[in-house]
Amino acid sequence: MNDEINELPPKICEQCLGDDTNVRMTKIPQGSECKICTLPFTLYHFKASKRSGHIVKTLICGRCATQRNVCQCCMLDLRWHIPVQLRDHLISMVNEENVITEEAKNDMMKRFLSLKDVKLGGAQITSDSAEADIILDKLKSILQKATSDSESSQLQIQGAAESDKNKQDKDTEKYRSVDVSHILKKIPLSESFTSDVSSRSFFLYNIDASIPEWKIADSISQLLNIKKWSDGNSLSLIINHKAKCGGVRFQSSMLGEQFARKVQETITTRKGLERGVLRIDRSRIFVIPWTSGFSAASFGATTAENIKLSLSLNKLMGLELGSDDKQFRAKSLDNIKKNKQNTSKKVQKAKSKKSKPRANNLTL
Ligand SMILES: [Zn+2]
Ligand SMILES: [Zn+2]
Repeated sequence: MNDEINELPPKICEQCLGDDTNVRMTKIPQGSECKICTLPFTLYHFKASKRSGHIVKTLICGRCATQRNVCQCCMLDLRWHIPVQLRDHLISMVNEENVITEEAKNDMMKRFLSLKDVKLGGAQITSDSAEADIILDKLKSILQKATSDSESSQLQIQGAAESDKNKQDKDTEKYRSVDVSHILKKIPLSESFTSDVSSRSFFLYNIDASIPEWKIADSISQLLNIKKWSDGNSLSLIINHKAKCGGVRFQSSMLGEQFARKVQETITTRKGLERGVLRIDRSRIFVIPWTSGFSAASFGATTAENIKLSLSLNKLMGLELGSDDKQFRAKSLDNIKKNKQNTSKKVQKAKSKKSKPRANNLTL
């Protein structure tokens, strides 16, 4: 099966292939490791147009692409050209059933899963044109119903926003009794990130569900110029998407120090603590040194604990940064102005440093 599928043409979407009628592709057998299953696969790379300086290459193997019905280069759904999570979410909503593409956690399971002849999550639907048409028809009628009366649709949009908020409120209510204080206690929320910190491990939070673990590993590896992150030698990464946080541990404190130096961007919380900022796609992951280290259990032992932890961290971020960035930026601009006018700025600064954060006592 392995060789057979490797002989099939690569699954690459039209957007990635570009407009040229003739694309010259280079094929390298066993040329790379699949970002999903970690197994070696036939790498293809090409320029989408002759003039383009950008080389597009396949990131995942043909088997993993088939299982998820995604493009081997951009990893978006081949039919709809949207991210897998969004696709699954859409299908779940329309069909009123829970459709998710579950990814294996450890390398052995990833490899095992990749060899199975299955279609995961929404791939069952979008890999079949008839099934996909049915979903689109359903979606169309839902949208038509919604737009037939603009006033009611306005209400529906409002309703959706409210129900989002309601969901969060409900979650907060649902997990109120879940106690994560023992977890929060061990998370280094009162530490500050500095470029000269000496630590092998770092806490990562504000991790969006749409950012896969490999992307985070890739961006850290790129920062440090490490070629092979997947062999697990230079760094190990645990991301708990339910808790929206995780940790990275480097093989040596030298690598850890190098990482701290390479993270260029930082933000200052209202309490005067620094957070490193790792930009991936459109989101920002915050970084704090974690000298005591961590394990998989550091993010909660159960799903309820994971979710409660993410809610607590959300609340903390609200406190740290203000409810949104704009407010935060406005606030810091305001501070700069104040500092310029105010000669007693040193007093002010000292004051803000004195008030230690109470993050560890955070409750919801
Ligand atoms: Zn694969
Ligand atoms: Zn593509």
